[in-house]
Order: sequence, then C-alpha cells, then structure tokens
Amino acid sequence: MAAKESYDLVIIGSGPGGYVAAVRAAQLGLKTACVEKEARLGGVCLNVGCIPSKALLDSSEYFHLAQTKLAEHGVKTGRVSLDLAVMLARKDKVVDDLTQNVRKLLERNKIDIISGLGRVAGPDRVEVTTGKSKPQVIATRSILLATGSAPMEVPGLAFDGERMVSSSEALKFDSVPKKLGIVGGGYIGLELGSVWMRLGAQVTVIEMLPRIAANLDSQVGRRLDRLLRRQGMAFRLQTKVSKAVVSGKKVKATLESKGASETLSFDRLLVSVGRRPLTQGLGLEEVGVAMDANSGHVLVDTAYQTNVKGIYAIGDLVPGPMLAHKASAEGIAAVEGLAGRAGEVNYDTIPSVVYTWPEVASVGLTEDEIKERGIPYCVGNYPFAGAGRARCMGETDGFVKLIAHGKTDRLLGVHIIGPRAADMIAECVLAMEFGAGSEDIARTVHGHPTFAEALQEAAMAVRNCSIYAG
Ligand code: FAD
Repeated sequence: MAAKESYDLVIIGSGPGGYVAAVRAAQLGLKTACVEKEARLGGVCLNVGCIPSKALLDSSEYFHLAQTKLAEHGVKTGRVSLDLAVMLARKDKVVDDLTQNVRKLLERNKIDIISGLGRVAGPDRVEVTTGKSKPQVIATRSILLATGSAPMEVPGLAFDGERMVSSSEALKFDSVPKKLGIVGGGYIGLELGSVWMRLGAQVTVIEMLPRIAANLDSQVGRRLDRLLRRQGMAFRLQTKVSKAVVSGKKVKATLESKGASETLSFDRLLVSVGRRPLTQGLGLEEVGVAMDANSGHVLVDTAYQTNVKGIYAIGDLVPGPMLAHKASAEGIAAVEGLAGRAGEVNYDTIPSVVYTWPEVASVGLTEDEIKERGIPYCVGNYPFAGAGRARCMGETDGFVKLIAHGKTDRLLGVHIIGPRAADMIAECVLAMEFGAGSEDIARTVHGHPTFAEALQEAAMAVRNCSIYAG
C-alpha cells in the first residue's frame, strides 16, 4: 500500500512521553506526527491518572478540612455536606481544559495529530486504523513508541467496570461506597483510598507484602502507615485476595493470610496491583522488537532505540519507574538524540511522590538501600513540629530525613513525609543534580517561615549542628 505522507518522526501515543517528545521534535525542526487512539490527547496522566486523581485529592482534602480543621482556625462553617456530582464535574473540567491545551500545544507547534489505532508496519512505516475504514499508511524516518501502560489484571479478580474496578473507574464512582476494598497498597491505592475515605468510605487496603508503599524508605513508610491508620484507613498486610465474586451490589472477597482464610464484603473493590506496558496489537513481534519476557517492557539502549534501527520507545512502555515526569524526560532525551544532540536522563534523581496527606516525597536512595550496598552514611532528621510554618498551618505531622555520604557528605537521598513534601522535594532533586553535600543545603539561607526550613535543619542535623533539634 502506498504511504500517505512522509515524516521525520511518527510518535504513537500522546501521553506525557509522546506529546512532550513531539513538541521537542518540532522545536528541533523534525516534521512530526502524533498518533492517538483516544479522542482526547494527554494519555493516562491527563485523562485517568495524575491529573484527575490530584483534582479529587485536592477537593476531598477541602471537604475533610471543612469538617475537621476549619473550626480550630476560628472558621465556622455550619453543617458541611458533599455534592459528589459537582466534585466529579470539576475534576472532569480540569481534565478537559488540560487535554484541550495539549491539542492546542501540538497544533501551535505544527505537529500533525492523527486519530486512530497505530501499528508498526515496518521500521519506516506506521499503519493507522480508524473505525472500519482501510488503514492509512504513513511513511517515516523514525518511529517513537509511547503507548504507555494499562492496569494489571489479577486472575480471579477480573475487572467488571462496576463493582470490581481499576483506578480508571475509581475516579468516577457515582456515589461514595460505604465499604471500599483496595487490593494493593502502592501509591495509586493509597491515593484513591484517601479520596474515598475523606468522602466517607470505610477503606480497607489489602497488601501481600508486610508493608504498604514498599518502595519508600522504611522509616517513612512506617510513619505513613501510622498516620493513615489514624485517619481511619485499615490495612490487612501479608494478605492475599485469592478471589472475589460479585453478588448483587456487593463484592465478596476471599482473603488469605498465614494459612487462614476469610471472606469480606465490599461495595466496590479497587484492584490496583500495578500496570503493564501496552504493547498488544502494536505489531512489535512482527518487526522483531525485543521485549522483556517477564515484564513485557520494550527493551531500549541508552539512546532509547530498540534493537530495530529507527524504532525508539519511552515512558511506561520501557523499564523504570512508571511516572509521568520520567516519561517526559525520556521523550525529550530520545528526540534530542535523534536530532543529533546530546540528550540524557539521570535516573538517580527522579523524584517520586505519594499524594496522601501528609504527602510523601523522595529522591535518591533509601536508608535500606544504602545499608544493603554497604555505603558509609550519616542521617539528619528533623520533624515538621519544629517548623514555625507548619505550626501556623496546623500541620505538624511528619519529618524530613536527609542522608549524606559518610565520607564525602554528598547527598545520597532525601525522604520527606509532611505538608507540601511534593513541592519541597524539587530543591533536593536540584541539589543532587549539582552533586551537593548536606552542608550546601545547611548553609543555604532558606526563607522564614517556610516548610523548607525543616529541610535545612535536617541538613544541619547531619553534622549534629541543627539549631532547633535536641
Ligand atoms: P500514557 O500516559 O499511558 O499514554 C499513552 C498513550 O498512548 C495513551 O493516550 C494511549 O491511548 C495511546 N495509545 C496506546 N496504544 C496506542 C496505539 N496502538 N495507537 C495509538 N495510540 C495508542 N505519574 C506521576 O508522575 N505522578 C502522578 O501523580 C501519577 N498519578 C497517577 C495516578 C493514577 C491513578 C495512574 C493510573 C497513574 C498515575 N501516574 C502518575 C502514572 C502516569 O500516569 C504514567 O506514568 C504516565 O501517564 C506514562 O506516560 P506515557 O506517555 O508513557 O503513557
């Protein structure tokens, strides 16, 4: 079949990996097209991930504050009630606005947006199918795969979109479930559990491992566990959900732990045990693109090129943390390399955030990892209770933990649980990028009163010279 048009680069997928790569490619003078199967651009992040979840986290936090916190600030509200439809509509509007902005951004950069299901027909050809019409074939010098990921299904816990759901449906329940079961204590389960708990659901998180959010520094993870339990979230650790059956408006889940089994009944069961790379139907086997046999990730070299010359891949599709900012960074680096520039991602300084309240944010190695590697280290801890700004806000839970190399003082990792941790971590990422030591942060003047002063005090505590600790 004759190719329709010729491009320098065709990107399949318009998530934070794909659309950011497209813009950078256009800036570098590459004639670029972006293929997207969904009506709205922006991928998982904008449509059913980062953005809608944070919109609901912010709204539900206001609801919670109005009920529990405003009175102590002398603000009288009367009876607080929930209008869930308005809350969901607001979230949808945020998503709509942002996805439209992505479309305008691509149009402004003269990137062709091609609607339809993309498939690699060869290293220089992409086939796009729309509805029942014949596939359109697009010729290109290079292909960038940015098709992202989809929720992982667990045998015995198949999604029905209504009672047994993935995170996508848990962003749009039309009523607050009385009892919400969550399979998986990772960040998605904890964030969505927080939303519905604040709105009135009784939330039980069931996790196979002995701890929630297992990737976190264990000291921080233990504090998060304690604070979420205090808010009312229940945890069943070292417990597996072996099967779940929908019966009328309930889901009956069989839990197994240490040889014992029991059945719990929920109004909805959210299964959030991870995500799998989306490679199905992309034609990768046919063109011989190598994938990891276990995880299904597309394998790439340091330039994000697969084993097939001219085919590149980024984002959730390739190994590494499944995070929007990682996908975007890879998109930029891949395209810069393709355009003959030097592009690179520093995987040692990718921040990660859990948007519970308090928030949890980290960068670099955890203390557990440092111990395992036998690296000499010093730790500085500082509680938010000692920060004036946190006192003013009435949010004193949590602490900053800063870990520096025992000999060189270079920062190895920073882990924060507390108010505005998500924003505070940026300073630590920059410090690590610049190879800073704890003393650099300790001697940097921080504004007063700010949450960041807790970071400065933690940095001072590394050398036992915190002004306020002790
Ligand atoms: P995606 O965003 O998945 O985009 C892939 C795009 O490709 C999609 O639009 C898809 O429709 C399209 N596509 C797939 N196959 C084809 C095809 N054959 N043809 C055409 N188009 C195709 N990350 C964070 O960093 N911070 C957060 O706070 C955060 N919160 C999250 C909350 C939830 C509930 C979820 C589910 C995820 C969250 N994430 C968060 C993860 C983040 O959404 C992903 O890491 C990110 O979206 C990955 O970007 P991507 O570009 O690789 O792929």
